[in-house]
Amino acid sequence: MKLPLIQAGTEATAPRIESAPAALKPPVTPSALAYRQLRRDEFWRSIPAYAEISPETFLDHTWQSKHSITRIDKLLEALQGLVPSAFIQDAAEGFRRAPMSVRVSPYLLSLINWNDPYNDPLRRQFIPLGSRLLPDHPKLHLDSLNEQRDAPVPGLTHRYPDKALFLALDTCPVYCRFCTRSYAVGIDTEEVEKIHLRANEDRWRRAFAYIASRPELEDVVISGGDAYNLRASQITEIGDALLAIPHVRRLRFATKGPAVMPQKILTDHAWREALVGVVDRGRKLHKEVVLHTHFNHPNEITGITEDAMNLLFERGVTIRNQAVLQRAVNDDVETMQMLIKRLGYIHVHPYYVYMHDLVRGVEDLRTPLDTALYIEKHVRGATAGFHTPVFVVDAPGGGGKRDVHSYEYYDRETGISVFTSPAVKHGAYYLYFDPLHSLSQAAQRRWEDPLQQEIMIQNAITRARRQDPS
Ligand SMILES: *Cc1c(COP(=O)(O)O)cnc(C)c1O
Ligand code: SF4
Repeated sequence: MKLPLIQAGTEATAPRIESAPAALKPPVTPSALAYRQLRRDEFWRSIPAYAEISPETFLDHTWQSKHSITRIDKLLEALQGLVPSAFIQDAAEGFRRAPMSVRVSPYLLSLINWNDPYNDPLRRQFIPLGSRLLPDHPKLHLDSLNEQRDAPVPGLTHRYPDKALFLALDTCPVYCRFCTRSYAVGIDTEEVEKIHLRANEDRWRRAFAYIASRPELEDVVISGGDAYNLRASQITEIGDALLAIPHVRRLRFATKGPAVMPQKILTDHAWREALVGVVDRGRKLHKEVVLHTHFNHPNEITGITEDAMNLLFERGVTIRNQAVLQRAVNDDVETMQMLIKRLGYIHVHPYYVYMHDLVRGVEDLRTPLDTALYIEKHVRGATAGFHTPVFVVDAPGGGGKRDVHSYEYYDRETGISVFTSPAVKHGAYYLYFDPLHSLSQAAQRRWEDPLQQEIMIQNAITRARRQDPS
């Protein structure tokens, strides 16, 4: 072990710290600590519809749920008077062309800066604009992660050796433009015919029976949809059923809830106590039960979030974050550092930052692999290692998450990166495609030609095979 300060045996007497030279580090600037400044103002009052809403009402999760906007016309109506009508028409066109369900909580709506809606990082994630949409990449497929192919029971994906993903239901407290599971969540839209995974006790029992029949499964992710939308009794039912399976050692409830409606943790006592109950019973059985959440931008974290996370921290609940790297949302070093420091400050462990999946209608939100490599380099070292996320790409085809640095081959000109995943499937190659808008004009033209597409892809795989001939 390295002893950095004093070498044993080099000094006969104890070192005289008070006579050491003054610290060499310059004093910290206030802006370097800005991540600790969490808003506690009554920010919602700037929305005309919420101008008279008291803090008590705004903190009430039933009020938040009841006033969440689930229809495009209602959302556009709520924006009347806040933004120019050209913006509203642009959003109407965006919803018409992009396949997604709508649900926006008052909390989320109030955190958007409506004085600059085109550039707001939260607006970009939840409200599409026709004028900003870009054509999909030619290699994009609907279930880009192939979760259905690895599903022994509908809504249960068993891809990795020792862990499974259980999609308990198909609704969320909010609908994100960029959702990987757009094939399954939300109500039908004109564009996407969905596979329904409603909360269904019979389907759940089949999933639990499958998990019980596979002794190698130690780790279950309970997702959806979103665990926030499970009733308290369902949290208990799922948690206890899985804890009762002897070989299950780890459970994670996955929810975007804390990022879009932290009020629920504070005021939905039944739900919170159900979660804490499963965590406590798990601990008695020496099993780990944690919460995984999904903050993408520091503006999503307020004083309300801090209070909610503090409450869970006091009750011994571990929380980890999985963010998605998105263009003009969090794809710069300053924002990502701020996000990570702010999460760490409220005791949420930044676990992953994902490359954006290849999903329909969100090409404007994707970034090239190169961006992840660059940001990771600048983030690592800014804080504790256990608060430093791993940047991963969940490459289409079912190879699972790979460290962005682990590509066998990456051609920045064509935007093709090739990964292998020996622990999941030996000998297979998985490809990720940078968005076309990040490529040169010449490369973009090559992608228009199906023959050229095949040549570029075959070349990339050949080069990757040379690198990793497994
Ligand atoms: C992400 C994922 C998991 C969990 O993976 P970790 O890397 O352990 O977080 C499990 N199953 C599937 C299908 C997944 O996509
Ligand atoms: S909350 Fe999660 S599952 Fe639901 S739409 Fe957003 S990313 Fe998808």
